[in-house]
Amino acid sequence: MRTVSGRTDRVVVVGAGLSGLAAALHLAGRGREVTVVEREPVPGGRAGRHDMGGFRVDTGPTVLTMPDLLDEAFAAVGDSLAARLDLLPLAPAYRAHFADGSRLDVHSDRDAMAAEVLAVCGPEQERGYLRLREWLTKLYRVQYDRFIAANFDSPLSLVSGDLARLVAMGGFGRLDKAIGRFVSDERLQRVFSFQALYAGESPQRALAVYAVIAYMDTIAGVYFPRGGMRAVPDALAAAAADAGVTFAYERRVTGLEKQGDRVTAVTTAGGERFPCDAVVLTTEPDFSYDLLGRTPRRPTGLRAAPSAVVVHLGTDRTWADAAHHSISFGGEWERTFTEIIREGRTMSDPSLLITRPTASDPALAPAGKDLLYVLAPVPNRRAGALDWEREGKAYAEEVVSVAERRLYPGLAASVEATHLVTPAEWAAMGLTDGTPFSYAHSLTQTGPFRPGNFPRSTANAVLAGSGTVPGVGVPTALVSGKLAADRVTGSR
Ligand SMILES: Cc1cc2nc3c(=O)[nH]c(=O)nc-3n(C[C@H](O)[C@H](O)[C@H](O)COP(=O)(O)OP(=O)(O)OC[C@H]3O[C@@H](n4cnc5c(N)ncnc54)[C@H](O)[C@@H]3O)c2cc1C
Repeated sequence: MRTVSGRTDRVVVVGAGLSGLAAALHLAGRGREVTVVEREPVPGGRAGRHDMGGFRVDTGPTVLTMPDLLDEAFAAVGDSLAARLDLLPLAPAYRAHFADGSRLDVHSDRDAMAAEVLAVCGPEQERGYLRLREWLTKLYRVQYDRFIAANFDSPLSLVSGDLARLVAMGGFGRLDKAIGRFVSDERLQRVFSFQALYAGESPQRALAVYAVIAYMDTIAGVYFPRGGMRAVPDALAAAAADAGVTFAYERRVTGLEKQGDRVTAVTTAGGERFPCDAVVLTTEPDFSYDLLGRTPRRPTGLRAAPSAVVVHLGTDRTWADAAHHSISFGGEWERTFTEIIREGRTMSDPSLLITRPTASDPALAPAGKDLLYVLAPVPNRRAGALDWEREGKAYAEEVVSVAERRLYPGLAASVEATHLVTPAEWAAMGLTDGTPFSYAHSLTQTGPFRPGNFPRSTANAVLAGSGTVPGVGVPTALVSGKLAADRVTGSR
């Protein structure tokens, strides 16, 4: 593995998102003097927050998986997840609602899920589910060390017995077909393949290797931190600060000073200068390349994942029976992906992720009230020329009325606070093509084919975050921070 040459005593990490926080912890744990420079007043980045009249909104991720990776980041400085966060396992992980009125609780516990599948879909599907579970578990084991938590210096790094095993397992076929080999009930097929969207693809086009995301949420389990998702970056930042990491908030990085092929300092809009022996950039790749004065060569441009509209609602009542995470599937399926990915239109028959964090932590809203997060996948700004500044509010109303009709009767009339985030807001944050989900995980944008984390033009600048390896998501952002630390210090 290529690593930063020369001194690496002082490292500046740009960005206090999850990848930057993970990088800071791993570097501090390896004896580096670390400064994190962040433009916002708080840590978290896309794992963002917004307070509205006693409702504590998380604006980013809601489905927290693979807490071991958080523990690994804490452990890097001799700290622990258990000491820093109160993680509540969600049972069910999701509640899936279908257009025919049926519903299925998705449990990560094997026996609970087998019983649910038996009750809702019958014995043949139950047997299929158990076989699928074995396949997903094996897929994860084969992939994790070599393909997810790995630094690549060239595509040849992929060639191994594990690659052959992945091929033999059908990992490079299509995701929907792979899941269909185990379960024929369309509802189960959706429950185990909708995660393709997290990777920015449709289940019909995503590689079967991305079933690994279904392993993470439907088998390894979904958790929720008491205090809301913001508790995660807050805890990581607190552990880092206690381990000696310096945080410089409200500093917007605008430049890098260089001597030869080395970055010697990070400079900010306010004229401050942070000297360094190495730098980790977790900013959007385009911006990072601008800072480095380098345009990567690629035969074709990179394709961004679809975006999302998120409607946050504070209500004057609760829906005590509603699950923490509900997926409300429309009747349409393939067409939905065609609309948002290929045609650049909003979904004609929406599928929505509706999260009610107050189901697990009522303190996130005033007493007797609920906080809801309704996420609708929509085209990114390149795929669809939608005028979100003008149309965002009307689309949010449409989404709320769908949620009301399907799952939350009386919703619209109960709303006392709202916060709307559309691709216009994601674009204003500087996110590529107005999507918070970075580049899609197509074959040519995955693993060693994804923009790498160690650009060759500079000897001591490393990239981390969703736009580089391994990719988008909380677990992957944490892994990318560790991979960046490995590039700086050599792996441990
Ligand atoms: C709506 C939404 C829902 C999601 N749902 C899930 C989910 O359920 N499960 C899941 O696993 N993942 C989910 N994700 C994805 C996950 O949140 C991200 O992949 C991850 O948080 C990205 O972390 P990062 O460190 O790569 O980037 P960021 O969080 O964007 O970190 C980059 C940091 O750099 C800072 N920065 C940028 N420019 C500058 C500058 N010039 N100077 C100084 N600082 C700068 C930013 O402020 C930011 O703090 C979701 C994301 C969103 C937005």
